[in-house]
Amino acid sequence: MKFDFKPTTIPDSVSISDWKNWTWQLRNSLKTYKDFIGHFDLSLEEREAFNHGEEVFNIRTTPYYAQLAGKSSSDPIRRILMPNILELAAPAQAMLDPLGERKNNPAPRIIHRYPDRVLFLITDICSVYCRFCTRKHFTGQEEAFVRPDEYEKALNYIKTHAGIREVILSGGDPLTVGDAQLDRTLFDLRKIDHVEIIRVGTRMPVVCPMRVSEDVVRILRKHKPVFLMSHFNHPRELTAEAAAAVELFVDHGIPVMNQMVLLNGVNNHPAIVQALSRRLLYLRAKPYYMFQCDPSRGTDHLRTSIEDSLQIQKELWGNLSGLAMPNFSVDIPDGGGKAYYVPNYEVFKSEEKRSYQGWDGIAAEYMNPSAAQILKPQDAEMYYQEWEDLKGART
Ligand code: SF4
Repeated sequence: MKFDFKPTTIPDSVSISDWKNWTWQLRNSLKTYKDFIGHFDLSLEEREAFNHGEEVFNIRTTPYYAQLAGKSSSDPIRRILMPNILELAAPAQAMLDPLGERKNNPAPRIIHRYPDRVLFLITDICSVYCRFCTRKHFTGQEEAFVRPDEYEKALNYIKTHAGIREVILSGGDPLTVGDAQLDRTLFDLRKIDHVEIIRVGTRMPVVCPMRVSEDVVRILRKHKPVFLMSHFNHPRELTAEAAAAVELFVDHGIPVMNQMVLLNGVNNHPAIVQALSRRLLYLRAKPYYMFQCDPSRGTDHLRTSIEDSLQIQKELWGNLSGLAMPNFSVDIPDGGGKAYYVPNYEVFKSEEKRSYQGWDGIAAEYMNPSAAQILKPQDAEMYYQEWEDLKGART
């Protein structure tokens, strides 16, 4: 099936050239109650959130993303961007730093949780403050690009830790910085010999696809290998503009991997996850992760139960191509790392064999070969030092 990616409607009051200009989108973001009532008929719960503006997480959306949201307060995209007084209701769990990032912060703007990769938070600004954000302890302080002294310290940390193979530019949203700063950051990272892979984690293709220009894509390509980590959560976010942005990356050899978050009343239904995944795959973006929403402050009304998420995964499993199936994962609160879930089809195990009943009911056994036949590959020694380096990477 060919998918129909529909363009957004440009409001009559805005010129096409302004609408397609990403800096116009940022300059004209909706931030205040007055901005929002110009676009939305606010519900009581939404109004109340604005009355408690100091207590709720930052509020901001681009006009483009606001245009995607529907009129009802239960509209999925509206639930992502619109503050709600439920953010202040008594929660089951509410953590300011659910990933325990502040205790894995050895240098300014660096989060070093896993041995071979670091996050480099180059800005705290986003063009939309998602209500489910997991990094509310950092995001939205509006300090913009990292200060020069912090930038040097962060870069030096990466330089002096030879086990770091991957750097993930994050924030905030790293594509809210200008082309020159982005280019310089990637240039500086590429000068570090042990940095193999760079990822750019961004919601800009979703909330401001006009940011994705030939220029920005050329910058990423120049510093390859760079992976683009997108964050589409709902098939309606894949407009013609967003689809063109995704394709521009892929056409220039930049792999796009999508990380979605399961959100209550937004996408917690197998039909929605399937629709999103199939469209992404059609655009050659890999559905990579389906995350359980972290228990970040103010997200209780947006979180699903793990049972609900597992049921969604189970219904998709087998029905959706492996290429389109995202990995379901829960970030263990307080920085415990990822816990992956896959449906368990094993019904019996012993040393000799395992027995299964597959997703559509077929039962079969897997017999192990005799232990005496199992050899280690002769050339494993050649790669062993690399393995040892990886294990010692954080020291
Ligand atoms: S774009 Fe990412 S960092 Fe920014 S508010 Fe949304 S979830 Fe948080």
